[in-house]
Amino acid sequence: MQSYDVVFERARLADGTVASIGVQSGCIATISPEAISINAAQRIDLEKQLVLPGLVDGHVHLDKSFIGEDWKSHRPCTNGFNVRERVAFEKELVAAARSVQERATALAELVISRGTLYLRTHVDIDADIGLRHLSSVLAVKERYQELVTMEVVAFPQSGILASPGTADLMAEAVANGADLVGGLDPAGFDRSIDGHLDVVFGIAERHGAGIDIHLHDPGMLGVFELEEISKRTKALGMGDCVAVSHAYALGHVGSDTAKRAADTLADAGVAIMTNAPGDRPFPPIGILREAGVRVFAGNDNIRDAWWPYGDGDMLERAMLIGYRSGFYTDEELSVAFDMISSNAASVMRIPKYGLHSGAPADFIALPARHVPEAVVARPPERSVYRAGKLIARNGKLLCRPELPCR
Ligand SMILES: [Zn+2]
Repeated sequence: MQSYDVVFERARLADGTVASIGVQSGCIATISPEAISINAAQRIDLEKQLVLPGLVDGHVHLDKSFIGEDWKSHRPCTNGFNVRERVAFEKELVAAARSVQERATALAELVISRGTLYLRTHVDIDADIGLRHLSSVLAVKERYQELVTMEVVAFPQSGILASPGTADLMAEAVANGADLVGGLDPAGFDRSIDGHLDVVFGIAERHGAGIDIHLHDPGMLGVFELEEISKRTKALGMGDCVAVSHAYALGHVGSDTAKRAADTLADAGVAIMTNAPGDRPFPPIGILREAGVRVFAGNDNIRDAWWPYGDGDMLERAMLIGYRSGFYTDEELSVAFDMISSNAASVMRIPKYGLHSGAPADFIALPARHVPEAVVARPPERSVYRAGKLIARNGKLLCRPELPCR
């Protein structure tokens, strides 16, 4: 006789209907508009709370955050924003902070408690750091694998050509557990678009890895780099495996130029990540989506040497993206939600993501009537379920590797 491990009753779905969700072996076995009467080891009444799939943070830095540390006052650059100076400040602060593993653990626990069940973390690699940050973050990834699914990007925060030895370290990182090859401002930081991209695409091609490049270079310079990245992606048949994070340039140029760049990115299958940062111009989400570009979101820096903001909540990130984009309608607010859920899941190629039968029972329940309200209100009261088990409630993690889930 058929039975379920757990049946969630009175779950409000995104379309506003109320349903029952039957879970078996950690996966959703059925979603039914009717009550499920067959045997279940456990029944949980969701009291008509909205059920959303586990949130996806498509860009975060687990090795940088000072969450859990004493407050670190932000130190401004001496003569306007300068990446090299920021990196130098960061190295000083990190040297005086707790270990990468302790800080990455604290941030991982924070984001899980907010409902992030999938994330892509960039991890610094340079000639000083070597692979130390990587091994710490990989240890956290393994330790928390039952609570959160992580992808790791080998990120050359100090440049590749500008930091001799980094290219070999990045290749070693990808051979030893990093899932993607990162990059950083090929022109603005490394002063050689081809030199930088040769290394990034070379490692990715040799190891069958994806690519996610930080690109802050402005205006037409940045657009040219996006075109070069698209050209290489297409030539190597790497469409759907390449993303560019930030791409501020698309927010600097006029809409005609942005549209042409969007067509080029869409044709190559290059995705764009934005976190709608502070006072920076950022990509026009509507233009990119219209062209068929997958646009996704991440928190990026969370209370680190780069900026003092962030509490790990992807619903808040969706709200900020909507706020800065001038999203008002329900449809637009749903776009912001797609960027922290299905779009980011598609970029990360998370199998069977979403709320449907056959999917992992990874979801959150929260007091909202529908997705637009969840984005605007981002209620802190929420229950987080992983494989059908309650792992966090109201911002408090209820289980850890040494404290198994019930
Ligand atoms: Zn970043």
